[in-house]
Amino acid sequence: MHKVMIEVRINELAGRKDNKHVPWTAAEIAAAARDCASAGASIVHFHPRTADGAMTRDDNVYRDIVAALRQACDLLIHPTLLPYPSDSDADFRLEPITRLAADGLRPELTPVVLATTNLDSLDEAGRFRNEEMTFINTTGTTRRTVERLRELSVVPYADVWNVPTLRQLVTFARTGVWTRPVYMMFALMSEAHLFGHPGTAAGLRAYTDFLPDDVPLHWSPYFVGGNLLSLIPQIVAGRGHISIGLGDYPYRELGEPSNAEIVAEAVRQIRKCGADIATPAEARAAIGIPAHGMRGAA
Ligand code: ZN
Repeated sequence: MHKVMIEVRINELAGRKDNKHVPWTAAEIAAAARDCASAGASIVHFHPRTADGAMTRDDNVYRDIVAALRQACDLLIHPTLLPYPSDSDADFRLEPITRLAADGLRPELTPVVLATTNLDSLDEAGRFRNEEMTFINTTGTTRRTVERLRELSVVPYADVWNVPTLRQLVTFARTGVWTRPVYMMFALMSEAHLFGHPGTAAGLRAYTDFLPDDVPLHWSPYFVGGNLLSLIPQIVAGRGHISIGLGDYPYRELGEPSNAEIVAEAVRQIRKCGADIATPAEARAAIGIPAHGMRGAA
């Protein structure tokens, strides 16, 4: 039976206006992650935030969060690298991970965005918010990032925003640059965010139609600004995984749920579709992370 890995996208840059359960501090993130682990998650993705919710790249905040997560649960840890300047090099981008590794807190996964694109998002009136904002990820920067992660014994988690970057990722895998099995996210985005596929059956199918037969891989969609639960039958049928949480969307359809309540609802719907849920140990094995081998000192 297919076992679905559930990644909880626990906070991103979300505020608390639409859902008060978005965790910001290390203690809040760890408590939410522990509850998500009990509900069926196997991976946690977080953004370091200050106590008032602002984004930060402070090493101490990263360290406090990862240390608290290690204490609280056995979820695989997937920290963001953002924010970094678009033209920064691989070493600068990976500084938070390098420091965590030096402190004996190496995470299992690190995101690598492959797309170079405009970051078009729309305000509530449907006007472009950022007419000049671009995100640049050259082929060379991506290759060096992946090579550096290999040196750090951290698995690169590809963040795929469109079919061309999926093709680039597959090429990296075929030429031995990218670790196999490839583990990737598929970006689905609401009408307010134009730089990923629409969060519809067709938007997801446009990715899965281009999956190669010759590269071992796992894929996991996330949906910025929309409800991903409705795509679960399609995800399970395609033997995919799921990345979901309050970071992407407040899920007011479920009341004002916590991250764990969203995970629990995903678990219920995945089981209804005839699949099972991967434990953190099973997720480690599937992604190719040795049991406990990624913990401890670098
Ligand atoms: Zn993120």
